[in-house]
Amino acid sequence: TDIAGLDAHLIDCRACPRLVEWRETVAREKRASFRDETYWGRPVPGFGPADASLLIVGLAPAAHGANRTGRMFTGDRSGDFLYAALHAVGLASQPTATRIGDGLELFGVRITSPVHCAPPANKPTPQERDNCRHWLDAELRILQPGLRSVIVLGGFGWQSLLPVLDDAGWAVPRPRPKFGHGAHVELAGAERPLHLFGCYHVSQQNTFTGRLTPAMLESVLSDAARVAGL
Ligand code: SF4
Repeated sequence: TDIAGLDAHLIDCRACPRLVEWRETVAREKRASFRDETYWGRPVPGFGPADASLLIVGLAPAAHGANRTGRMFTGDRSGDFLYAALHAVGLASQPTATRIGDGLELFGVRITSPVHCAPPANKPTPQERDNCRHWLDAELRILQPGLRSVIVLGGFGWQSLLPVLDDAGWAVPRPRPKFGHGAHVELAGAERPLHLFGCYHVSQQNTFTGRLTPAMLESVLSDAARVAGL
């Protein structure tokens, strides 16, 4: 299957009862405050081209960001921070992301997450992560031929992604490398290595407190883009 086919299947997934209930309840209750828009309230697919050489892996859609707009990191403060940085280093066509159809394009970059539905308190359960894993597996296999680097935003994404990379054929060292901001691990692959970068998540807890600054994020993006040939 191709990436469009994968995304089309994904948006109909109902494998996690708690998340289906949550995403739909939020959409129903909040639709009133965003009257002019349809509220997505479904699984959010990855965003960006299938021939991306750089993949960014987050955690899960935010209740009133991606769960509202239907596009990764679109429509909230986390996304404002991420897309401004992507634009600053030349990886996005514009610094803002407001809704599907706003003209935003990513250049050689795709953004996805190990859990595709908004979880209560931004905390998916291990079972929900495991349910969603086959989507990430399939997405990575489609991206694999061109993929050169991955930036993981936060420890949850890091823990979720390593086993998937391992299964897809990259050599993940044992013991597994630890997540940290600035972590950079080169994984040997059958054809070429994959560069894995750790970065603090772009959540407001990190960006409002200055734990993650625009310069820090832009620096990781630039490093990952360089090794990805972007
Ligand atoms: Fe399906 Fe993933 Fe959403 Fe669970 S989190 S319902 S597996 S798309």
